Amino acid sequence: MSSHSASAQPSAVDEVVELCRDLLRIDTSNTGDNATTVGERVAAEYVAEKLAEVGVEAQLRESAPGRTSLVARIPGTDPTRGALLVHGHLDVVPADAAEWSVHPFSGEVADGYLWGRGAIDMKDFDAMALAVVRDWQRTGVRPPRDIVLAFTADEEAGGEYGAHFLVDRHPELLEGCTEAIGEVGGFSYTVNDDLRLYLIETAEKGLEWLRLHARGRPGHGSMVHDDNAVTALAEAVARVGRHRFPVVVTPTVRAFLEQVSEALGIELDPEDPELAIAKLGPIANLIGATIRNTANPTRLAAGYKDNVIPGRASATIDCRSLPGQSDIFLEQLREVVGPDIEIEYVHRQPAVETSFDGDLVDAMAAALRAEDPGARAVPYMLSGGTDAKAFQKLGIRCFGFAPLRLPADLNFSALFHGIDERVPVEGLQFGVRVLDRFLRQS
Ligand SMILES: [Zn+2]
Repeated sequence: MSSHSASAQPSAVDEVVELCRDLLRIDTSNTGDNATTVGERVAAEYVAEKLAEVGVEAQLRESAPGRTSLVARIPGTDPTRGALLVHGHLDVVPADAAEWSVHPFSGEVADGYLWGRGAIDMKDFDAMALAVVRDWQRTGVRPPRDIVLAFTADEEAGGEYGAHFLVDRHPELLEGCTEAIGEVGGFSYTVNDDLRLYLIETAEKGLEWLRLHARGRPGHGSMVHDDNAVTALAEAVARVGRHRFPVVVTPTVRAFLEQVSEALGIELDPEDPELAIAKLGPIANLIGATIRNTANPTRLAAGYKDNVIPGRASATIDCRSLPGQSDIFLEQLREVVGPDIEIEYVHRQPAVETSFDGDLVDAMAAALRAEDPGARAVPYMLSGGTDAKAFQKLGIRCFGFAPLRLPADLNFSALFHGIDERVPVEGLQFGVRVLDRFLRQS
């Protein structure tokens, strides 16, 4: 049913929960395998339809059957300015219904939360962006500059079939974009009733998936044997797994720690940031990995028979390097694994880092303060990766800004890819109001 009276039309705040719930009910589980990944096309078509309803035409692009991403452009009043990219992924990590309190794809609203896989990662923001644009289209609002909406496939498996595909194969759809907002930032961390820090992502660690190879002399398992590839590999892997790389405080982390120490009244020694981070409670996990390069062994492969010593053995190490540290890190890692182990890059994406200043940052801080007088925007570095890694290849300045006001006691970082993922309904509505203000001023 439709109404011609403007007052009866739903506002973005009215609509966002329904849009998010609809998206949560579309299972877009990304298994990392094209054969078993589902739903991205259905979700992209849903978004396209919601945009078409308000007169926005979207471009759908498929990197492989079903691996659909969507781009749409909302023209701004000043075409001479660079466009702002607003991006969100449509895929989610899989969820095991048996582990959840509600079905992960039911989109239930209970206890003030909207529950479902993707509720905070990141169909919440997809719904917010959609709600704001639909509201503007219905009420005749035009943004100051072009806004390019991108809803991507495959973020959860590295974005090769989503954001990287768009950037590499269809850059014309992103023409003129100079700055971008997406996940993971803009959420609140409560210091006290009058002060909430909103963490704006201005940096992301780089990603290096490495394979270690050990070679030895093949032989019979019953013999005395001192050149065993499995033994050599196991020793190297154990050394890597136990190693702590040195603390390096980058500009983003330094700015974050300064703001936090001021807000919390903690004395901060920049040479020993771990002490300050330990006091951050629920976000300590999120921040703890951003003061050093990390290397975690994740896979092992060797051998084909119980009594045969194989000639080679290999292991995968998931490494995350700080901005500017990629080469130094490799040297450090070489020292840890030793000269006899070969290191191969399986996958490599450079770190992202921008400064926390300029009109766009001011607009984020102002929009947050307008909706939450106790808001203070602070920059931070994400230890994981997002589609920003793809979009920065086009020279786009990327921020994580998906605004969300969270209850003080919610363990937000544990909800990412976690059981009972859920978003507070009030937080979602707060996010829409902030995003609307921000985009009008961007
Ligand atoms: Zn995500």
